[in-house]
Amino acid sequence: MRDMPAEPARYLLWDVDGTLVFNGADAGNLYHEAVELAAGRTIADRMPNTHGKTDAQILAETLAHHGLPDTLRQAAALHLDELSRLRHERGEHRTLCPGADAALRAAAAHGWTNGLLTGNGRQRSAYKLAGAGLDLELIDWDRSFFGDTTLVRADLTRRAAAALDGPAVIVGDTPNDGVAADAAGFAFIAVATGAFARDDLAATSARVVLDDLQSGHGALLAALADLPAR
Ligand SMILES: [Mg+2]
Repeated sequence: MRDMPAEPARYLLWDVDGTLVFNGADAGNLYHEAVELAAGRTIADRMPNTHGKTDAQILAETLAHHGLPDTLRQAAALHLDELSRLRHERGEHRTLCPGADAALRAAAAHGWTNGLLTGNGRQRSAYKLAGAGLDLELIDWDRSFFGDTTLVRADLTRRAAAALDGPAVIVGDTPNDGVAADAAGFAFIAVATGAFARDDLAATSARVVLDDLQSGHGALLAALADLPAR
């Protein structure tokens, strides 16, 4: 009996915040606290709108805004992980976006490998997803890309393009996810469960804009089926 040729690998790379889990009501506070702990003093005003940015980028911008040296960023990143762990252990969990679990399972059933491409670090991603009740086994953590040390989201997609042995698709909730997808030649699928409205996302390169992963379940699978295998 002849061996069947292996299915070519295809990767669906999911953003976390606003895509798989709803944004936290007070999510920006952790970056602020992490920088305060690294600096050893309180800092004034909070930074606005962090959506679509990597953790490294948000910490770097917060440090710069307050006139603090970027050499504190590594310490701030460690505090950020620790603050996330404490929040997780206190039971302060994110809410899973509707249809996220079913979308991951359906994509896998259609031959896609589910990975993450997120501005969060690995630990913070796991806390957010597990806290929201997602089965972490649905994610291939070795084919995931994390933004805890990468300042520019597009550098994450370019790293993914170099590392993966097949085409990838980005699923995300911000125009910056689209910019990052474009930079690596990846297709982009947008979902409007984050901070950006459908119209903002329709103005990107998105193949389709889903209101959410539940009502958009069929449209997601149809968009994936439409993509070339290579
Ligand atoms: Mg997001």
